[in-house]
Amino acid sequence: MKSYIKNIIVLVVTVVVAFIASMDFLSMHKIEKIGDNPNITEIKMLSEYSPRLKGTSLDTEVYFFDSGVEGGTFLILGGTHPNESAGLVAATALIENIEVEEGRVIIIPRTNNSGFTHTSPFDGMQDFFTLTLSDGSERTFRVGNRLTNPVHQWPDRNYYEGTSGRTIYGTENAEVRNVNRLYYGTEDGVLTEQVCYGIYNLILEENVSITMDMHEGSPEFLYLDCTMVNMKRDNTTAMSIASDMALSMNFDDLDMRAEYSGVTSYGLSHRSLGDNTDSMMTLMETYNPSMGPLHGKMDDDLLINGNEPNYYEAHNDGYIYFDVPEDGYPLLERVARHMTCIRYLSEAYSWEYPDEAITISGIPEYQEIVDGGFDLILKPL
Ligand SMILES: [Zn+2]
Repeated sequence: MKSYIKNIIVLVVTVVVAFIASMDFLSMHKIEKIGDNPNITEIKMLSEYSPRLKGTSLDTEVYFFDSGVEGGTFLILGGTHPNESAGLVAATALIENIEVEEGRVIIIPRTNNSGFTHTSPFDGMQDFFTLTLSDGSERTFRVGNRLTNPVHQWPDRNYYEGTSGRTIYGTENAEVRNVNRLYYGTEDGVLTEQVCYGIYNLILEENVSITMDMHEGSPEFLYLDCTMVNMKRDNTTAMSIASDMALSMNFDDLDMRAEYSGVTSYGLSHRSLGDNTDSMMTLMETYNPSMGPLHGKMDDDLLINGNEPNYYEAHNDGYIYFDVPEDGYPLLERVARHMTCIRYLSEAYSWEYPDEAITISGIPEYQEIVDGGFDLILKPL
């Protein structure tokens, strides 16, 4: 009789713990709101370009800003890797603020919509971070993971060959859930690859002229404050445009360089979308200390202030190439950097192709954003 009661108690405690834990997991499936902007002309779903995504957790919103004036089309991707938070926040800020005066801008804020619904297991990750605006209102964003949630795409196959010819196997096999390994994609591939196909097909159908894929990297990564550019055999203008942008950023005292994408970087957006479409492909990375293995406690100081003393020390000891600032590299500065990069890319594109201009207003100068804080770029909701 005694053991019977014990069993009941264990069962009840298990159900209570499982219930509390499931509430926590389910809260990560709630998509953060994006503020209204009267300049949005249409919101579509990516499944309109990759039909099998419809009804799945990888379908995602595509925001259109059509000036009605003839010009080029700029596609901006945020959230390819959800844990690279500056990409989501910059895409959100652009959607809430821009006006397009010539040409069109298309923004996908959560490119891997499923990746936002989980975090890296056993890594002490925080699920959310909250930015408080001066009126006291709060904007909360999910931290997410760089890969599709295994709840939505499972199991990881032992061997997978993407459309680019990239093979994924062995210790890399979880990369079959990485959007930025499976371009240009196919509509009957794994769900993550269907996202790639949707973006590829969108570029073709909407005649996209230039694309920016916004990323962040761990402090160990060698391509921080760097823009990768597709090296098309017959076209060097993307590098000329990216170099104009990098020069403009350096004039603003912002480190930036442009490099050609690796010849074997198959499956990555800047390589395989550039090779298989007419869009100029660019991908920019900012420093994110929460992504590296040396990071300490995952808290707002790390996620929002970008402050990780271990990395400052590691840089001073000669182990980290990137010039880690002593006071951290705040999320606001990384978001401002992405927005500035996009502003200068659109300007450089318009100088190079005046008949296909893409003129965007509503993106403040870098220093204005840093001085004005998130108040200047995010709306109270
Ligand atoms: Zn990334």
